[in-house]
Amino acid sequence: MHIYPDAQAVIRDLAPDEATILNRPHAAQRAARFFKEKFPGKTLYAVKANPSPALLKVLWDAGITHYDVASIAEVRLVRETLPKAQLCFMHPVKTRRAIAEAYHSHGVKTFCLDTAEELEKIVAACSAEDGTPAKDLRLLVRLRVSSEYAELSLASKFGCDLIEAPQLLQAARQHCDWLGVCFHVGSQAMSPFAYVQALDRTRAAIAEASVVIDMIDIGGGFPSIYPGMEPPPLEDYFAIIAKHFEALPIAYNAELWCEPGRALAAEYSSLLVQVDKRRGDELFINDGAYGALYDAAHVDWRFPVEATAAPESREGLSEELADFAFFGPTCDDADYMAGPFPLPENIQAGDYIEIGMIGAYGAAMATGFNGFGSSAQVTVADEPMESLFRGDRERPQADNVVSLR
Ligand SMILES: *Cc1c(COP(=O)(O)O)cnc(C)c1O
Repeated sequence: MHIYPDAQAVIRDLAPDEATILNRPHAAQRAARFFKEKFPGKTLYAVKANPSPALLKVLWDAGITHYDVASIAEVRLVRETLPKAQLCFMHPVKTRRAIAEAYHSHGVKTFCLDTAEELEKIVAACSAEDGTPAKDLRLLVRLRVSSEYAELSLASKFGCDLIEAPQLLQAARQHCDWLGVCFHVGSQAMSPFAYVQALDRTRAAIAEASVVIDMIDIGGGFPSIYPGMEPPPLEDYFAIIAKHFEALPIAYNAELWCEPGRALAAEYSSLLVQVDKRRGDELFINDGAYGALYDAAHVDWRFPVEATAAPESREGLSEELADFAFFGPTCDDADYMAGPFPLPENIQAGDYIEIGMIGAYGAAMATGFNGFGSSAQVTVADEPMESLFRGDRERPQADNVVSLR
């Protein structure tokens, strides 16, 4: 596999006129090692953030053995890519067929639920043909918790409330030897207190149910860094989570799990686009709302940007920056990204822009709408534009570095 030093080398060698994804396996490896070494429990990877088989293999090689999957297609993909991985089916609403295939054909034992109907479905779909119930189920009851500290809410769709949880925990306990509670505080949680609040709620549910709990899964939500979103160190999150986990009324050997998607994948990729046209302070680029920049268009997410002049440009790019908005390549007005994205004020058609931190919910969102959609992927060796794991942030902690060997 050819490895380019950086975006400039890709531009020199390929001069791509279609959007190109630049992958950094070393950055994903560093993120995985950081969680392996510092999170006080087991780390699962939430596959939906970026299901690229190449990334799955990097994470596996870095020691991530458990994968949070949400659909039967994700189950098949991870099983095919990583035959020995432990798969956990964490979507609380599944079809009977998906549950049965996951359990009987792919060895999935861990299932999430938030209603009595889903419990009944799981129990029925996993039993043997003669009706003998499965004896090796591992069940997780999903609790609804607040998303108030997160940039993207996950509070309204899934999870049972505190009134329903005790009964559901008691019912699930009848069908498994290993019972857990899980939740999700929302994505890009900007404060560790998100988890404190959720663990308080977990405590209330467990106390009311009076059942033995074997594991707590605090979900995803760990942040990455973007312009205007500088989170506290992840060590602060881990410390406060460990403290509140230890105070829960659970089995003495209970496990603690987390399921990061964004934090493990964000630094893995950037996107190299070319400017096709300039109209005042609007740049028409060759990827957008229907490509890897879904969040930039739909939730006004801001990503870091860096410009490189077209190879044939004689003038070069100015030091002065100005704020730009982007239009994507499709014919749809909604294919618009407000930004603002600060770029050289004399940027023009033909120049390139590298858009950083799109490894999570970027590459994974691309469609082929209107015949556009980033296709080419290359590997680069330079650093991501931002990193939570490199140990060089403004508020570093003495032990905030995980070495790359
Ligand atoms: C999306 C999702 C995750 C990953 O969330 P991040 O905010 O990307 O860390 C983890 N668990 C579940 C159940 C999810 O739906």
